[in-house]
Amino acid sequence: MTDTKTGHCLCGAVEYSFTGDPAMVAQCHCDDCQRQSGACFSLNVAVPLAALTVDDAKLKTYGTTGTDSGQPRERRFCPECGSPVITLLAEMPELAFIKAGTLDDRSWLQPQVEVWRESAQPWVGQDDAIGSFPRDLQQA
Ligand SMILES: [Zn+2]
Ligand SMILES: [Zn+2]
Repeated sequence: MTDTKTGHCLCGAVEYSFTGDPAMVAQCHCDDCQRQSGACFSLNVAVPLAALTVDDAKLKTYGTTGTDSGQPRERRFCPECGSPVITLLAEMPELAFIKAGTLDDRSWLQPQVEVWRESAQPWVGQDDAIGSFPRDLQQA
């Protein structure tokens, strides 16, 4: 895989890139994502940590706890401009969840799964073609 995707926060202080196809594109309607994104949901591109290049030292972390899982979330953001950039989930330590709006090219994005549908705003349309979970992803 030589395909490299790039992105950055609003001010550009934090840049990142990753290679290869994402593991998943997931829309999250949980209350924390609504508040953090300021957009009433978040779109997250899950990529293997091994495929991601980012200067972690430039990011600050705000820790939250998953409502259902009880697991820690590291919500990493740019301290200069406040953009949320990456979330790390303790129960999926091999993946980084990139906030899709920070990608340079967003034209290819297509949600494959949505979680916390039960707290979605009523005006956010539902695509019956994708997997939808009322709350957190059930661990298989
Ligand atoms: Zn920034
Ligand atoms: Zn969420």
